[in-house]
Amino acid sequence: MVEMTGRCFCGAVNWRASGEILWAALCHCEDCRRAASSDYVSWLGVERDKTEWQGPRKCYSSSPGVTRSYCKDCGSPLSFETEVFPNETHLYAATLDQPELYNPTAHIFWSEHLPWVQIGDGLPKHEKGLQAAAKAGKVIL
Ligand SMILES: [Zn+2]
Ligand SMILES: [Zn+2]
Repeated sequence: MVEMTGRCFCGAVNWRASGEILWAALCHCEDCRRAASSDYVSWLGVERDKTEWQGPRKCYSSSPGVTRSYCKDCGSPLSFETEVFPNETHLYAATLDQPELYNPTAHIFWSEHLPWVQIGDGLPKHEKGLQAAAKAGKVIL
């Protein structure tokens, strides 16, 4: 059982999650990269009903069945939720107040990584992501 908190850049939006970190992975897909304007995104999965939000958060549908959110004041991206995993909220690890809690175990969507990104951390590199794996009945993390 872990108590985690996090916030956006300006601090107007805060989140709190309890329970376990369900999985932790680094995503190289183009959607994540563009939504965060970042080379790749460090994600953690938590239980949606154990996650609380405070502050001016804006949610929007970024693709069918997918809701992302960001801080209305400073624009920091904050979360990802998909109908494929209705019990999970995916949080940006970079928003954590306790970064030492984050231990990623894999890269996902390595098939879409940017040409200048070179990774030597020894973690497995999966070509696709969690939704494709779940739809194929596979667990990759
Ligand atoms: Zn903010
Ligand atoms: Zn992604």
